[in-house]
Amino acid sequence: MPDFIVHRHPALAVSCPICGTDPGLWCRQLNGQFTGSLHKARQAEADRQFIEQYGHEAAIIHAASGWLIDPHGCARD
Ligand SMILES: [Zn+2]
Repeated sequence: MPDFIVHRHPALAVSCPICGTDPGLWCRQLNGQFTGSLHKARQAEADRQFIEQYGHEAAIIHAASGWLIDPHGCARD
């Protein structure tokens, strides 16, 4: 299962369906250069897997110590 809180961005937890980059690495351009950003489809895939793992009410929060998963973050907001 992807771990959404160990990377600099939660979507880095999944591999990219567009450029095929492995988890933990930023997306690549067509020339193979890392972009320091993420393809939209990768963010969507990360969202899908996050909801599958934690449910629709959960949210990821960026705290001083890093990323935290709030199991009911979306239900409150
Ligand atoms: Zn990508």
